Amino acid sequence: MAGGTHRKRAALARGHNLLNELPCDSLLVSHLANVRYLTGFTGSSGCVLITARQRLFFTDFRYRLQAARQVRGYRLVVTGGAALEGAAAYAGSRRLKLGTLGYEGRHLRQAQFGALKKALRGVKLKDCGGAVERLRQVKDRGELAAVRRACGIADAALARLRRRRVTGSSELQVAWMLERSMREAGSGPLPFPIIVASGARSAMPHAVPTERIIRPGELVVVDMGASVGGYCSDITRTFATGPLPPKLEEVYRVVQEAQALATAAARPGTACAEVDALARGHIAAAGYGPQFGHALGHGIGLEAHEGPVLASRSRDALAAGMTVTVEPGVYLEGRGGVRIEDTVLIGARRSVPLTTAPRELIFLR
Ligand code: ZN
Ligand code: ZN
Repeated sequence: MAGGTHRKRAALARGHNLLNELPCDSLLVSHLANVRYLTGFTGSSGCVLITARQRLFFTDFRYRLQAARQVRGYRLVVTGGAALEGAAAYAGSRRLKLGTLGYEGRHLRQAQFGALKKALRGVKLKDCGGAVERLRQVKDRGELAAVRRACGIADAALARLRRRRVTGSSELQVAWMLERSMREAGSGPLPFPIIVASGARSAMPHAVPTERIIRPGELVVVDMGASVGGYCSDITRTFATGPLPPKLEEVYRVVQEAQALATAAARPGTACAEVDALARGHIAAAGYGPQFGHALGHGIGLEAHEGPVLASRSRDALAAGMTVTVEPGVYLEGRGGVRIEDTVLIGARRSVPLTTAPRELIFLR
C-alpha cells in the first residue's frame, strides 16, 4: 500500500488523547472498524487495550505476522482464542492497572460482556461506546484521498453504464457489470450489495436486484459504492430508459432540486437536522412529503454507514473534514421511485461533492 508508513504514523496519533477525553482510565476497543482506525490492522480478529501506561494489541495466531507488520506502537499479544476474551483474560491474570475500564457496549454481545466481567472481577466497567466513532467522523488527508478514489471509481463505473444498452438486460446483469467494472478499476470488496431497481420496483428504496428484464420507458435506480484502503463511497443515480410519464419527470425534478438545496446548505457548523429539513421541506412543498420516508444521509468512511446522521431527529452538527451522503428520494408505490445521492465532503467553507456523475435525468438505451 502506498504511503503505508505515513498511514501507520497517522493511525498511531489517533488514539493519543482518547483517554483524556473519556470518563475512564483505560479503554478496550473491539469494534473492528475502530480497531482498524486506531492501528491500521485489517484482519478480522483484533482488539486494542489502552491504559495510562501501555497500548496493547490482541489478535489470534492467524494474524500474528500480519499484525506484526501492520500495527506499530502497540505491544502485540497473541491470544489463544477470540481477541476480546483473550484481552480480558490477559488483563485479569496480570492484574493490569485499569482503573475504570471503558468498553464499547454497542458492539459487545451479551456473552462477550459476560466474559469481560468474569475475567476482570473488581474492575469498574463503563460503557464508552461511540468515542472512536466520534473521532472517525472527521477525516484526515490520507483518509480523504482514499474516499476520493473510491468515489472516482464509482463515477467511472456509472460513466461506463451510460454508454451501454440496459434495456433487455436483467437488474442482476446490470449490477454485475457495475460490480465488475469497479473491481477492475481497483475497488476492494464492495461496501454493500449494489442496488439496481427498475420499473415499479424502483419505489422500494432498498430493493435487491432480480432477474427482472429492464424495459423501455421506466425508471432505474442504481445505488452503489466502491472501497479503497477500507474507505467507502456511496452514490445513487436514477436513470430513465425512454420518455417518462409527466408525473415521474416532475418527481425527478423535485428530488434533484432537494438534493442540490441540501448539498449547498451542508456547511461546517450547520445542524444535520437543518440540512435534512431543507430537503424534506422542498419535497413536502411539492406534495411528496409522505413519499420521502427515510433519512437524508449518513456519514461515510471505514463503514458505509457511520456518523453523523442527517435526519430530522439528529442532534449532530456538520464539521469541516466530514464525509457524508446527501440522498433524498421520492417513492411512488406501483409507479417508481427516484433517489439521487452523492458522497459529499464538508469543506472549510462549503460542501464539495466527491461523486460527480451527472445529476440531470439521463436516458439510457
Ligand atoms: Zn447509497
Ligand atoms: Zn447512502
